[in-house]
Amino acid sequence: MRLHLLDYGNMEVDVGWFVQAAGVSTLSAPTPTSPRRKISMIGALIEHPKAGLILYETGAAPNAREQWPPPVFEAFAVTHYETANRLDEAVHAAGFDLADIKAVVIGHMHLDHAGGLEFFRGNDVPIYVHEDELKNAFYAVATGEDLGPYVGHYVDTSFNWKAIQEEQTELWDGITLYRAQGHTPGLLMMRADLPNAGTFLFTSDLMPLRENYEEGRPQGWLGRDQHQWWRGFKLTHTIAERTDARLVFGHDYEVLEELRRERVYD
Ligand SMILES: [Zn+2]
Repeated sequence: MRLHLLDYGNMEVDVGWFVQAAGVSTLSAPTPTSPRRKISMIGALIEHPKAGLILYETGAAPNAREQWPPPVFEAFAVTHYETANRLDEAVHAAGFDLADIKAVVIGHMHLDHAGGLEFFRGNDVPIYVHEDELKNAFYAVATGEDLGPYVGHYVDTSFNWKAIQEEQTELWDGITLYRAQGHTPGLLMMRADLPNAGTFLFTSDLMPLRENYEEGRPQGWLGRDQHQWWRGFKLTHTIAERTDARLVFGHDYEVLEELRRERVYD
């Protein structure tokens, strides 16, 4: 089994979306500057000996600027997106074609993680998502409640959706999915146990940044259920400590840069 990390480009955001009370005002500093950060959109391509090529997360749609409503793009501006960051090109740089992909796992259905599903529109590739994530996304789009992070261009029936019902499942040998709520109801973290490089744990946006995990900083405005987030926080620590996993946070630019120095892990 081999793992390639994919770089789907960068966004620049207010840290307050991801880290609670980032830039909060106080008595002695009543008008602080909101901290902003360059973040990454991240994917993983796994060459699995039995299941074939598996993709975890898809980044944003290539035409995010047109697809996303202007206020959404203003808040989550894609500031760096070259041809090499496009899903098909990123897969190509790893030595494969999109047509080689046998399965897609979506960590969660927000537009910067599932927007790249446009590349799989109308074909038979199974798209694995947790049942509650799928229901929540369709509900959000249908009712307009919490619509912002979905927009909806990929939330339709043109895909071969496959629902995961379990809280934890080893979907293929050495690939385990863990449901962790808090950011969204059915977020799936992915653990990959590689024969030589050891365990990788992809947290998606349960832990978008390193400080969420290392400093126990809960999510900011993107948090939806803080009690559940803490449960996911503990689950992440338990898995990481038991397996000595390398953690890939949902959006951490520096972690991706560090890990991408080695092109392929096996
Ligand atoms: Zn995200």
